[in-house]
Amino acid sequence: MSARSRSPVIQGWCPGALRPMESGDGWVVRVRPRAGRLSQDQAREIAALSAAHGNGLIDLSARANVQLRGVSMASHTPLIAGLRGLDLLDDSAEAESQRNVTLAPFWSPRDGAYDMALDLSAALTAPRAMRLPSKFGFVLDLGAAPILRHSAADIRIERALGGALVYANGAQTGAVVPMAQAVTQALGLAQWFVDAGGVGPDGRGRMAALLAGGAALPADFTMHPVPLAPPFMPRIGLHPTGALVGFDFGQMQAETLAALADLGPLRITPWRMVLVEGATAMPNLPQLITQPDDPMLRVIACTGAPACSQAHRPTRDLARALAPHIPQASLCHISGCAKGCAHPTAAALTLTATPQGFDLVLNGCAGDTPTRAGLAPSFIPQALHAL
Ligand code: SF4
Repeated sequence: MSARSRSPVIQGWCPGALRPMESGDGWVVRVRPRAGRLSQDQAREIAALSAAHGNGLIDLSARANVQLRGVSMASHTPLIAGLRGLDLLDDSAEAESQRNVTLAPFWSPRDGAYDMALDLSAALTAPRAMRLPSKFGFVLDLGAAPILRHSAADIRIERALGGALVYANGAQTGAVVPMAQAVTQALGLAQWFVDAGGVGPDGRGRMAALLAGGAALPADFTMHPVPLAPPFMPRIGLHPTGALVGFDFGQMQAETLAALADLGPLRITPWRMVLVEGATAMPNLPQLITQPDDPMLRVIACTGAPACSQAHRPTRDLARALAPHIPQASLCHISGCAKGCAHPTAAALTLTATPQGFDLVLNGCAGDTPTRAGLAPSFIPQALHAL
């Protein structure tokens, strides 16, 4: 197999609203809801802006952001004007690239997590804030037990006896501080990352890579062990804070977002699901996943061809066809190329498109060495049954 068939282009940055990313179906405009929450008015207006200035398709990202697809150079200006009126934008593309804060969605107004996320976001985008790599992110996971250990982060804040445990992603230890000091402590750790050489000449860098390279954490981050946490699987259904609903491939139509907005404020989750805040009944809307055993929850597929210019093949029709064949507790990731955007971590089954067909990877990622190579789509169900 040629190197070209397995080597996607790594952009090294994420799209924003002010710095959209080109895709096969136009520009992708990523909106970062503050602390992952959209008011009903914000959600309704985003739906209207998507229909008016994009192609009406809205993706949810693994960092709990909302992406409007199909935006053009001409429609970007009025779209940005609309978003700015909703208090969803930062002052500059640089500022928005710094506001990478993911908040565990089951917070309550009394636990302080939402305000902490807002405070951290404000500090990261302040005029003289330190400059971090654009993929550098913070996870605030302040429930009784952590639920976002699988979400990408460089610095994590979790609940601990006596306050908050602040630690570097990839570290075995962290610092426990009173809740009121957690943001300051996290920013101090980020400053250490910069001072210790975590940012490369190209402006990129991740915490785990710095630690893997042998950097020694400051003493106060070596005092408290990071406890083990059982794997967390989000459950579609009713929760004390609202109704958690899903979407095929984490994508919805603008009218679905508008209809959800009528039911309550929306918390965007890093599982590409939405928590309808305060809902006490499951929404009854078309195009929603409302049952926890829905087969579509067992498949993940990126945009694929033709909407992504890097894709070797379409992905989503294959994913729909395969979903009923995937065992209930399993997960199948279909990726349009070896980059694996939709699921950067390992899955039980991964099918990676190449010019020759699909490569099958078992318990690995899209770019890993395949068990079978060049499978024709029509042969894949048979190949999966043979496993
Ligand atoms: S993984 Fe999918 S969305 Fe990402 S670059 Fe490849 S084809 Fe495009």
